[in-house]
Amino acid sequence: LVQLENVNKHFGSLHVLKDINLTVSRGEVLVVIGPSGGGKSTLCRTINRLETIDGGRIVFDGNVLPAEGKGLARLRSEVGMVFQSFNLFAHKTIRENVTLGPTKVRGIARDAADKRAMELLERVGIASQADKYPAQLSGGQQQRVAIARALAMDPKMILFDEPTSALDPEMVQEVLDVMIGLARDGMTMMVVTHEMGFARRAAHRVVFMADGQIAEENTPDEFFTNAQTDRARDFLSKIL
Ligand code: ATP
Ligand code: MG
Repeated sequence: LVQLENVNKHFGSLHVLKDINLTVSRGEVLVVIGPSGGGKSTLCRTINRLETIDGGRIVFDGNVLPAEGKGLARLRSEVGMVFQSFNLFAHKTIRENVTLGPTKVRGIARDAADKRAMELLERVGIASQADKYPAQLSGGQQQRVAIARALAMDPKMILFDEPTSALDPEMVQEVLDVMIGLARDGMTMMVVTHEMGFARRAAHRVVFMADGQIAEENTPDEFFTNAQTDRARDFLSKIL
């Protein structure tokens, strides 16, 4: 579904992505882990063009990623993104947060968008909160709304950038459970996370990123029991 070919990205003189080559297949769940500043968020952001790249190319669903224009709007609707900080619209209800994209961007009729929103809120377990505002929900609930909002666009893939890092510990699992459900249903997912339980249960492949490079790529089993590089072993010894 996505191919990154020799992707490079600089922020000024800082070389943040160094010749990244990576393929994500349809239905695959890829977990990206690695030390802070290694380029994980930047990698996610290049895939839906929140960041431009300055070398190489990214092919999504057979098309080279556009820099701007109509193609970009379509790409954004096909690649969902869930952030650490939820990013819900504070002055809109939960239901409105979920229907906004489909009605405004996709031109779907209000009734149909509403019906679908309620199905999705049901799926993430918060249909009963539909008419509340984000601030009235817990962090875990807000993040589940953010997932429902991403799903409402019928994306071909969802990028998750540390979706549980801002949550109180007791809310982490409810969000991971929703994500595990999506993985089981065949959603293509790229997940930046340090939740090793999730990686073990749901990932098909783990990518270890450090200093702007993919230092290691393996199945979760192999990666966690038999990491190949000193860098990865050192990192794992700190988080496990
Ligand atoms: P973390 O685990 O802390 O989230 P990360 O692996 O996601 O880290 P990135 O956020 O991708 O890392 O950042 C990679 C490098 O690029 C860091 O050195 C960061 O300071 C730098 N960087 C990220 N965004 C920008 C920006 N908009 N402008 C300048 N430098 C940036
Ligand atoms: Mg990050």
